[in-house]
Amino acid sequence: MGALTFDRKREAWATSTGLVKETVRTPRLDEPDGADRSHVLIQVMYAGFCGSDRGIWWRKAFGDMILGSLDEEGKDKRIVGHELLGRIVQVGSRVTEKYGYQPGDVVSTESHIICGTCYQCRVGDSHVCAKDKIIGISMDGCFAQYVKLPAKALWPTDLSKIRAEVAAVQEPFGNAVHACQAAELRGRRVAIIGCGTIGLFAILIARGMGATQIIGVETDPHHAELARKLGADVVLAPALPPADAPHKSDPDLVRQVLALTDGVGVDVAMEMAGFNAALNNAIKMTRRGGHVVMFGVKNGDAVVEDVHRVVMNGLQLHGIVGRQIFKTWELTRNLLENRSNGIQDAIYDVILNGGQDTLVDFGTWQRDDFERRIKAHPKVVLRFAGQEG
Ligand SMILES: [Zn+2]
Ligand SMILES: [Zn+2]
Repeated sequence: MGALTFDRKREAWATSTGLVKETVRTPRLDEPDGADRSHVLIQVMYAGFCGSDRGIWWRKAFGDMILGSLDEEGKDKRIVGHELLGRIVQVGSRVTEKYGYQPGDVVSTESHIICGTCYQCRVGDSHVCAKDKIIGISMDGCFAQYVKLPAKALWPTDLSKIRAEVAAVQEPFGNAVHACQAAELRGRRVAIIGCGTIGLFAILIARGMGATQIIGVETDPHHAELARKLGADVVLAPALPPADAPHKSDPDLVRQVLALTDGVGVDVAMEMAGFNAALNNAIKMTRRGGHVVMFGVKNGDAVVEDVHRVVMNGLQLHGIVGRQIFKTWELTRNLLENRSNGIQDAIYDVILNGGQDTLVDFGTWQRDDFERRIKAHPKVVLRFAGQEG
């Protein structure tokens, strides 16, 4: 079958970029293997290209996880991709009885494959499983014509209620839903700092969940325009921090947010930009007793300005990873299937640009063309079998 891979036999991690389109062995269910009795084989219909896939494309993130897991498996190539919409073509012998899935069912998947036995899994916090594997990073993923997955991770999807191209991005949308579950948003004033793909989703979700005021913060004019189209009341451009103090907040930005909120500050600020300065901006523009949702922060040390403010202002900081399994998925489904909130249509019309230039047929996939598209759009979706399959 065809797949997009990182293949260390062809190119070293440190000196390459992009993915390789190549023919690999089609996965199959191997019944004598006990685990495969609870697995399914899925024909991929569509697959979303994620921010973390961008990290892999430019070799900025996940190198250790990919190379380490390849060492463990004694392999050289990793099939990338974890945002899936597909059709089940074969089920292991225990799947239907245990999970209810049958061949022909259309599914998405949770991308974190949890162990089910660690402390977090046992106390109901499986989204922070201590031994999870991530599809397309620490195990083979869905940028391929077929993928084999454990049935326990799958999420049934009704294509009469969700457009297929949108259903392919339920997983990253769910990430933004999870961030919006961290604090009550109804009737609240919310700042979303960083209007990349997840920030744009968060604007739609905050609006759908009843936030009264949404302040976007974004430097890129194209993304700022998308944020306005999706329902941000105002989008402010932060100043870049001084080169010798990249952690510094922008006092002018904070003043503008205070002016927009009767001098109080926002109830909830979401840091989705991935810069130290963005975290400090979030802390400084949040009202006393408010919530700061941390989503974008990267590896390494960060500086928190006036750290006593976090304590003295009674702020609550939340780190958000993945999706609560499957609580977040239930809310995700409700937000997408309810057409009256306009979310599903906005994802297709605005974030996916009405399908123009954002849908890429795997059959005609070419590296340079694809790189241009992932630079031009917040979200690009690969079409494998499509809906007809
Ligand atoms: Zn993703
Ligand atoms: Zn676990």
